[in-house]
Amino acid sequence: MIPDMSRHKTVPSLLVSAVVLAIVVCVHACSKSSGPAAPTPAPTPAPTPTNSAVEGMLKGLEAEISWSLSMNQSLLPNNPGSAPQIQGKIAILHKPTLASDIRSGGLFEGDSVTSRNGRSLPIGAVFPQGNMRAEASEAVRNLRLALPVLEDFMAIPLPVDSVRLWYGFVIGNSGGGGTLHMEDRGSYESWTTASRLPYEAILDHELSHSYIGHESLNQFLELYVYNVVHTDSTNPQSWIYVRDYVAWPSVAALLDVYQLIGRDAMSGAYRTLYSIKPPYGQPLSSDCKQVFVDQAPAAVKTQVASIVANITYRRRLGTSRSRETASKSDARLWHRGMRCAARIPPLVGARAITRALAVATDADIAN
Ligand SMILES: [Zn+2]
Repeated sequence: MIPDMSRHKTVPSLLVSAVVLAIVVCVHACSKSSGPAAPTPAPTPAPTPTNSAVEGMLKGLEAEISWSLSMNQSLLPNNPGSAPQIQGKIAILHKPTLASDIRSGGLFEGDSVTSRNGRSLPIGAVFPQGNMRAEASEAVRNLRLALPVLEDFMAIPLPVDSVRLWYGFVIGNSGGGGTLHMEDRGSYESWTTASRLPYEAILDHELSHSYIGHESLNQFLELYVYNVVHTDSTNPQSWIYVRDYVAWPSVAALLDVYQLIGRDAMSGAYRTLYSIKPPYGQPLSSDCKQVFVDQAPAAVKTQVASIVANITYRRRLGTSRSRETASKSDARLWHRGMRCAARIPPLVGARAITRALAVATDADIAN
């Protein structure tokens, strides 16, 4: 009978194992009481920027926070009705660790879209609070959809190398040069009613300011982009949102012109207007109005001429305000996405207006 040697080997093996275990336990116990401290875990590296747009934004993060703080503070004196929202932003921006929190917490999103000239155009979004991530991502997605439609209409590649969305740092919205400063959607929808302008349309509007500074002209781009994205139709009869056609005479006039001369002629007019650079905050010049007449078929030129005469740069607010005051208020009203100015305290502020003017005037200058 052959002895089962494996059983004889098992006993010493168990003994050795027990000794080793005892040593290990001892070492652990000793190290806790009197040995050297356990090594500190390596700090978690900060998330890497998702693309070059985000990378560039993070480099300017401190400046953006400082600017946003000034912007919000400048709005407070004249906007008591919006004070809770404005104060909320100021409190966020005052946090000393905000910039590092954004960097270390990866409070950014990035994506890209292929431009009509074949380049990959990065889209970046940076936001100050983690609970804005879903909204910011949705905004980036909206911009991805909007940009090709806008480029196709203008038949000109976006005249910047990236789209940069500062999401949720300020109350109100502005845009130009591929940079958008947007109130976050949650804040916007917290104080507006169901009749509010669609948030996505405001995104389209601010993106469109990359081509056109003039407010009335830009409002048409907003309508065009929003509706083509949502209906896949350039026929305004199919559109789902026309920005209160009756109450906004300038936009109504442009929609009338659009229906008279058609999409291609309208596109041609906007390409010409892009080269003329009609500025934000000023009446549309007669030369600019003539562009639409020039593009119109002979049979409707006279009709188009009479319609474009109604294109201004402001909305009528009443007779008690001066033209200048009304125009400035309108600009901020629109950039807050309001269309019922009489029922909502206007958002006005000299610094805000200056910023909006500067941004829009430089709309087509690359960053
Ligand atoms: Zn605008």
